[in-house]
Amino acid sequence: PVDVLTFGETMLATQLPGPLAVGAPARTTIAGAESNVAVGLSRLGHRAAWAGLVGDDEPGRLVLRTLRGEGVDTARAGTHPTAPTGGMLRERRVADLMRVHYWRRHSAASLLTPDALAPALGDGARILHLTGITCALGPGPLAAVREAAAHAHARGWTVALDVNHRQRLWSAEEAGAALLPLLPHVTVLIASDDELPVVAHALAERPGGEERAVAALLDAGVREVVVKRGGEGAAFRDRDGTRHALPALQVPVRDTVGAGDAFCAGYLSGLLDGLAPDGRLARANTLGAFAVASDGDWEGLPRRDELHLLATAPGSTIR
Ligand code: ATP
Repeated sequence: PVDVLTFGETMLATQLPGPLAVGAPARTTIAGAESNVAVGLSRLGHRAAWAGLVGDDEPGRLVLRTLRGEGVDTARAGTHPTAPTGGMLRERRVADLMRVHYWRRHSAASLLTPDALAPALGDGARILHLTGITCALGPGPLAAVREAAAHAHARGWTVALDVNHRQRLWSAEEAGAALLPLLPHVTVLIASDDELPVVAHALAERPGGEERAVAALLDAGVREVVVKRGGEGAAFRDRDGTRHALPALQVPVRDTVGAGDAFCAGYLSGLLDGLAPDGRLARANTLGAFAVASDGDWEGLPRRDELHLLATAPGSTIR
């Protein structure tokens, strides 16, 4: 079995340094929350498998060969015969404002089914990593996530869920209602502070602050809750009452997209290495910092011998 199994939608991504225009320079890459996590883990030496669906097209082949090139196991990834690979276009509209456009409706990934995922689950894994994005893609992907969570929980795997709320795909109410039945299977719930209400609202009738939302999640069966706080860092709380809060690393901000996925990869890497909660948070913050300090969602993520690179004096050259 692999260390981490994940699945979801990975798209062809085009990134423009300015607004969309004829002849504008563009950087072509691939993007998907779950595959970003898989790449982050693979670079740290863990065995990560990605089992999503792509189209039988050039973007789909780019997704698969890029992931394979990063050492991600794609043996259980599938190719849909007719539906296309999804796409996204990201404009840096002004210096610090990104705008993203998606073409993901009716994509191959939105047609994932529990049956298509079954062989990947059959192979086994230490950790199953799920995101709210996959749940939002359609009824098939939602059913696949639910069956995967139940399967993994029944076999004692660690189940991680990154809430990853995408307003473009569904409302907070829809997301809360869909994620609620997953909670009893979830070992580690990861959410940014502004996403906590998405799941907490579905649990509690009255709204409350972060403290209350985390308590409600622990009561619902989640073993530990990890809260991402952007430039402020992150916090941890578990059912045994252990709490930690850790500030973010001080780094120059280049591109914040992908920070959350990098953070998840760091946290799961810490779990696999048997680190204590504060060590897991520290590794998660380190990977998040690498993501914000480099261009691209996953391209700048560190290899294991680079984990301490950010401690080097800013502006220095490593010779
Ligand atoms: P996204 O959805 O854009 O990937 P997110 O909202 O899920 O991001 P954030 O809370 O923005 O996630 O960031 C995740 C983690 O990345 C933070 O907890 C922190 O560890 C790190 N991080 C984010 N912003 C910064 C920053 N400005 N400086 C250093 N680290 C950061």
